[in-house]
Amino acid sequence: MRSTSTQNSFPPPETTSNRSRLSKKESCYKGESALDYHLSFLPQKEYVIFHDLRLQSGDYFFQIDTLILTPNYILLIEVKHLFGTLTFEPEFQQLVRSTADAEDVFPDPITQVKRQASQLKTFLGKHKIPDIPLETLVVFTNSLSRITLSDSTTYTRRYVIRDTVLLNRIEQLSSQYITITLDPKLVKKVTRILNNSHTPSIIAPLQAYNLQPIELIKGVHCPKCNAIPMRRLHGKWFCSSCYYQSKVAHINSLVDYRLLLSDTITNKQACEFLKITRPLACRVLTALETAIIGVKKGRKYKLELDNLKKLVIEKGID
Ligand SMILES: [Zn+2]
Repeated sequence: MRSTSTQNSFPPPETTSNRSRLSKKESCYKGESALDYHLSFLPQKEYVIFHDLRLQSGDYFFQIDTLILTPNYILLIEVKHLFGTLTFEPEFQQLVRSTADAEDVFPDPITQVKRQASQLKTFLGKHKIPDIPLETLVVFTNSLSRITLSDSTTYTRRYVIRDTVLLNRIEQLSSQYITITLDPKLVKKVTRILNNSHTPSIIAPLQAYNLQPIELIKGVHCPKCNAIPMRRLHGKWFCSSCYYQSKVAHINSLVDYRLLLSDTITNKQACEFLKITRPLACRVLTALETAIIGVKKGRKYKLELDNLKKLVIEKGID
């Protein structure tokens, strides 16, 4: 979760190439920072703003781009920074984006944000929060987009706006909802519940960049200059690029394995990842003094980041 204009987190990737993945990230970021600018004009005392909230509902998680909590209502905002001609086709619950060289179909963001609102309603009910009106908006932040409708429905007009009129719309909502549902104590309680329930998503790095494990460069890398692979000689690792020597370079590579692939490793996997012989793999894994799951060939060594980092410091004095 992101508090206004500090750290950023991004939704999980859906695109196939790194380039489009990066441009999607950038697009999310631009959209949300454009929104931040407008929201910064709201009085902080009356509006509590959350960004990128990820909450659990049953076995699943749902994510809300921006949530504005007020004593009278809650507003959920889905932010879109798409460019091109955007046509809403509510009858098929889709949004079609046409640009000079392509036509893309996106799920209807109104349906998305309404689903989030119903999940939030269930979530708040479970925490015994009084029923509070939930409003939803889809906000387009890219001035280079042209929004069109496939028919003259007022439905889409009610939920879709540009960021430039967001403050007006919030003022409208605030004058529409005059009943206070949450007293200051309850506002604090809801704020606390949302903060405590937020679960950041862990994006598998390979998946994020659409890479296969086979594409990773294997071997022990030099902790000093990152050259790969280092050579093993007389119980030490030697870098042929910068001549650095290390006793523990393989542990740094096991940290990489843990972060990139899995929190457990077998002897065979260690041989392949570190490019070492079976007896050496057996020795280095046993020396980790870590938990072992399974027996014989299926034996897996648990890779704990804290433990690995501690070993690098303790055994790293050459
Ligand atoms: Zn080196």
